Amino acid sequence: MISKQLGKTGITVPAIGIGTWKLGINPEDEIKAIKDGISHGMTLIDTAEMYHTETIVGQAIRSEKGVFVATKVSPNHFGYEDVISACNRSLQNLGIKTIDLYQLHWPNPNIPIAQTMRAMEQLVKEGKIRHIGVCNFDVDELKEAQEATKSNEIVSNQVEYSVFARDIEEGVLQYCNKQKITIIAYSPLARGELYNEGTDAFDILGKIAKRHKRTISQVALNWLISKPYVIAIPKAASHQHMVENANSCDFKLSKEDLDDIDSIKTNFRPVSSRLNKFTKSTSSVWANLMDKSENFR
Ligand code: NAP
Repeated sequence: MISKQLGKTGITVPAIGIGTWKLGINPEDEIKAIKDGISHGMTLIDTAEMYHTETIVGQAIRSEKGVFVATKVSPNHFGYEDVISACNRSLQNLGIKTIDLYQLHWPNPNIPIAQTMRAMEQLVKEGKIRHIGVCNFDVDELKEAQEATKSNEIVSNQVEYSVFARDIEEGVLQYCNKQKITIIAYSPLARGELYNEGTDAFDILGKIAKRHKRTISQVALNWLISKPYVIAIPKAASHQHMVENANSCDFKLSKEDLDDIDSIKTNFRPVSSRLNKFTKSTSSVWANLMDKSENFR
């Protein structure tokens, strides 16, 4: 496993961590898979209050050392007191005293970002969180969030990024590189759609994988983490997938491979294109995506 610096902090995190959205179907096996991932160097684990997987993560890391825990506060909890309460609930669910990276899950234009960041900074002061991150922020939203954060830096922006979803290359990626903000690539395996047989994309990725004696997932993850400031958090529910993903760092894609990846055409529809902003009109889509029917304000 290779490590990368987190934002401008002096600390490093693994280039490949563990995503946990949609875990909870076979908790026992999933906890075992997370532990396998940790033992293979995937010591960053990403969860969110909205995923309802914090307790699974808590159980998986209970006797582990050196794990970096990232979780998220939902946009309907961006009011000052709501952020504090959500953090306390997450700490309890995870069974830890400090969250390493606390992230705003999606921009919420209905609540002033200064209010949300005041709460995040208070949590840093109290030692309940170590670092502040955001998710799904565009460049303007990032600038606003940076301005609202007085004594801390925004260390990361978690965004959808994969060989199938490359929208962030239009601006967010460059801005984050310039500002030394880590990009945490979510849905790095296009939620499993890389494996849709009979597509051009499947053939192209298959050809590259064959050249390197690797799998399609390993090619897709290697492509992401070979970029500066980018780390990836694939979700895997089994030992086999977890270990395969962990072993994605130790080869180098050639110019020919990169050109082939650039030629991929796909009908894949990123989550982010359906949900540019968290507003009343998108909140139900958001809730559905998260498999929840909670009422969002
Ligand atoms: P993903 O990681 O792109 O894909 C997960 C799918 O790929 C699962 O079906 C998984 O199957 C399969 N898979 C994993 N490893 C594989 C391998 N080696 N070979 C074949 N198939 C493999 O999708 P994701 O869960 O959407 O994204 C990852 C994480 O990003 C999430 O879990 C979450 O932590 C985060 N995320 C964040 C946001 C946000 O708004 N911040 C949004 C979406 C996701 P199995 O489960 O059967 O192993």
